[in-house]
Amino acid sequence: MLDRLQAMMAGGKSAWTPEQLAAMERLRDAAMKDNYALDELRHLSYNIGPRLSGSPQAAKAVEYVAGEMRALGAAVTLEKAKVPHWVRGEEKAELVSWPGQAAGTTQKVVLTALGGSVATPPEGITAEVVVVDDWNQLHALAPGAVAGKILVFNHKFDKELAAVGNGLGAYGNGVVYRGAGPIAGGALGAAAVLVRSVGGADYRIPHTGLTAYAPGVAKVPAGAVTAEDAEMLKALTSEGPVTMHLTLTPETLADADSFNVIADWKGTEHPEDVVIVSGHLDSWDLGTGSIDDGAGVVVSMQAIHLLKELGIHPRRTVRFIAWMSEEEGSQGAAAYMAEHKDETAQVTGAIETDLGADHPSGIYYAGKAALGGWLRPVSAVLEAIGAETLESSPETGEDIGGLTERGVPSFAPVQDSRYYFNYHHTAADTFDKVDPKHLNENAAVVTVLAYALADSAEPAPR
Ligand SMILES: [Zn+2]
Repeated sequence: MLDRLQAMMAGGKSAWTPEQLAAMERLRDAAMKDNYALDELRHLSYNIGPRLSGSPQAAKAVEYVAGEMRALGAAVTLEKAKVPHWVRGEEKAELVSWPGQAAGTTQKVVLTALGGSVATPPEGITAEVVVVDDWNQLHALAPGAVAGKILVFNHKFDKELAAVGNGLGAYGNGVVYRGAGPIAGGALGAAAVLVRSVGGADYRIPHTGLTAYAPGVAKVPAGAVTAEDAEMLKALTSEGPVTMHLTLTPETLADADSFNVIADWKGTEHPEDVVIVSGHLDSWDLGTGSIDDGAGVVVSMQAIHLLKELGIHPRRTVRFIAWMSEEEGSQGAAAYMAEHKDETAQVTGAIETDLGADHPSGIYYAGKAALGGWLRPVSAVLEAIGAETLESSPETGEDIGGLTERGVPSFAPVQDSRYYFNYHHTAADTFDKVDPKHLNENAAVVTVLAYALADSAEPAPR
């Protein structure tokens, strides 16, 4: 509403000519018909596979994407980043005693190690289980109640919030336990910390993700149990003592040399001014990282591909970036910010896609309120694919967060996140989860937007 008023107050003056708007329509229509993004995603998913930071597959993906961008005639640079190199080991757990146990039996607990976790001894640890639902319950425990125990955070993923479209909100509420739970447990002398998986599905699959340790606080092994197993642990511990045998043997190797892949489609009038279109190339290792964030990478690749196919050369440079190591701390983005620290003023806009591949209903923008009105002609072009909304948001993407903070107008597709967190960081994040039509809609949004930002008469308001 406000956007519309502002647009009217500005006299409906568009930053784009009818010819430019027609080019946007052609890019949109081409994105909806073209298989390039889907084919690239299939290759990343099936041929290369999971792309854990520091892994041989991540290195292969860098080489592959760089080659594909070179083949399009873009100017490709690999920019170095030191990244974590954590490898998953054995991960298993079983209950060895609990109330009502049949003699001589154990009970399997389904779990996965959290990224960055330290290991248990190879033979595992055996300890009593303490379950809390949240920080309040943890703080209400008697002093020493957690010492030597396996502490479980049983924070429920808010499926209703996700169901009404705010998957990211539900994720945000839960992910604090995954991130900070091991620090809280370590400070209280816990032997290990497990969190209830931060995700929405009901198929007893665990969701991994990064955890953290703090200087001066004991590092304890950390994992995520499935929602179902968290429920069981909660029920059994309410009846009496429960003992678990837990084995996690991940390793943290020396930081690895890796790269952001940067590919410039050079601007014709202002090649020094750039519009970033991006996703992150690394992924977790349980699935193949197709929705997180292979999809974001390939829709960004498609932007360059379609500019080439349609022979469009905007005024400013469109810079594709495949970020490295978003999942393990955004070291690639940090390296980029350090390398390009004096060029922030020349970044006209930055786009990142990192919320899967489901239907986009429009564009998130971070920056000046005037961006909403300014983008209205672009949203009119995207209305044909149901992507016409313009929503202000403080954040648009993890890797472009540093640019957003420095005042660069930044953008992301508003993606349907109702189902994203069912698969996120699980073994089920695979190629089949991506609907080709929805993927193409996302490609259309980022391609049209990248072109609009790169070819407007005046740069986006900032
Ligand atoms: Zn991601």
